Order: sequence, then structure tokens, then C-alpha cells
Amino acid sequence: MVHFVGAGPGAPDLITIRGKELLEKTDCIIYAGSLVNPALLDYAKEDCKVYNSAEMTLEQVIDVMKEFDKNGKDIVRLHTGDMSLYGAIREQMDQLDELGIEYDDTPGVSAFSGAASALCAEYTLPNVSQSVIITREAGRTPVPERESVTSFSKHGATMVLFLSSTLLEELQKDLLAGGVYTEDTPAAIVYKATWPDQKVCRCTVGTIAETAKKEDIHKMALILVGGFLGDEYERSKLYHPGFTTEFRKATE
Ligand code: SAH
Repeated sequence: MVHFVGAGPGAPDLITIRGKELLEKTDCIIYAGSLVNPALLDYAKEDCKVYNSAEMTLEQVIDVMKEFDKNGKDIVRLHTGDMSLYGAIREQMDQLDELGIEYDDTPGVSAFSGAASALCAEYTLPNVSQSVIITREAGRTPVPERESVTSFSKHGATMVLFLSSTLLEELQKDLLAGGVYTEDTPAAIVYKATWPDQKVCRCTVGTIAETAKKEDIHKMALILVGGFLGDEYERSKLYHPGFTTEFRKATE
């Protein structure tokens, strides 16, 4: 059987307990070596076979899964962050369905959560933004026109941009083209969130590209944009003394 496991954003103790237990028991790990922290492989048994999928095609990944499964062995497919985002898991699962190989899915902490924790930030501040748009700049993988950065930026909501650190000039232009974010809208670049060499750079929409260049950041970064990185917000209703909830009566 194949266990898809989210490795978390980097720090090896940010994998789930379930994910760690699967790593400890499995006979084979296929990990996304370009992004998964290799320190996670220390959880594996001594005789566990390890494959780096960064050097493999989908066909080769499936062949390894087939081989181990045929011999009654378990496989962990270790993806970075949470594999429901840009994980390319669907194509693997569809092939496993065709081959009649069973699988399950254990979520992980996504880099967008890791980046927020690096900043001790809340994406959804009252009266600032109540939505998080997770997207990417179009690169070699196209993005549907109706989901372009410019069209999303018209909402002025919190935005988290994956897979865009080599496209920052375009990104900056597209963010401004929506006409709601300005050059001064707060932004941040979080490089290798939760890794020992994590870097957090606060900037503004107008200085994203320049900041990344100065800090020499070209990959493994998230770009965060929006007023949630600023100083103004309203306190929450939930914890306000004047607000009654199912669990607490208003006291004023
Ligand atoms: N499934 C992953 C995302 C995979 S796409 C997740 O949930 O996090 C790969 C992109 O994720 C990278 O190009 C980068 O933009 C981002 N990324 C992954 N790990 C990161 C980290 N620790 N810090 C910052 N960005 C990261």
C-alpha cells in the first residue's frame, strides 16, 4: 500500500505524529528531494529503501511503488508541505487506481502556514481581510486567465504566492495592475520557512523584486501580500466582552 504523507514545510518536528509513524514503519520512501528536508529521512528504519523523486519521472515513481507493493511492502510518498497544494498527487493516485494499488493520504503543514508562523502573523484580521488567496504567477505551468494574479489582486485580500520567486518583476507588476494594492501595500518574502536558514524579509508590493535580489532569494520562498502585514485592524468580536456566544454571555 502507498501512504502519501505531507512532510511539513521543513523543520522535521513539524510532520504530524501519524506521518512520522508511517515513516518509521515503512519499507520504502520516495521523497520530493528538491524541497523536503532530508533530516526527515532519519525517522526511517535502517533497511528502508529511499528514492529521490526530484530525479525521477512519474513513470519511474509508479514503477517503484508497483515493485514494493507486489512484494507486500509499504511505500511512503513524502511530499513537501501539504500535498493538496501543487503536490502532483492526483496523477499518481489515478495510476494507482488503474493498477488496483491501495493508498491513503496524511496531511501536512503547508508552507503557507509555516510562513505565517515565521512572521507570527494572522492572515485573516477583522476589518482587513477575511480571505486568503493562494495562487502562483504563471510560469512554465500556465494559470487560467480568470485566475491571473491581476484578477485576484482586485480583491485586495490577503494573498500567498507559491512558485513565483523567479518571476518577481512580473508578479509585482501584476499585483499593482489590479488597482487595489499600491506600491506601499505591505508584503513579505519568507524563504525556507521553518528551516534553520529561514529568512523573513518585510517589504512592500513596490519593493518585492528588489528585496529578493538584495537578499539573494531565487527559490523556496513564498510571497505574502496584504494589509494583514500592516498595523491596523479591529479586535475580534469573539473575545469582546460585549459579544455573547454559545459558551459565554456578554458582560457589557
Ligand atoms: N505542497 C507544498 C507546496 C509545493 S510547491 C506546500 O503545501 O507547502 C513548492 C513551492 O512551495 C516552492 O516553490 C515555494 O514557493 C513553496 N515552499 C515550499 N516550502 C517552503 C518553505 N519552507 N518556505 C517557503 N516557501 C516554501
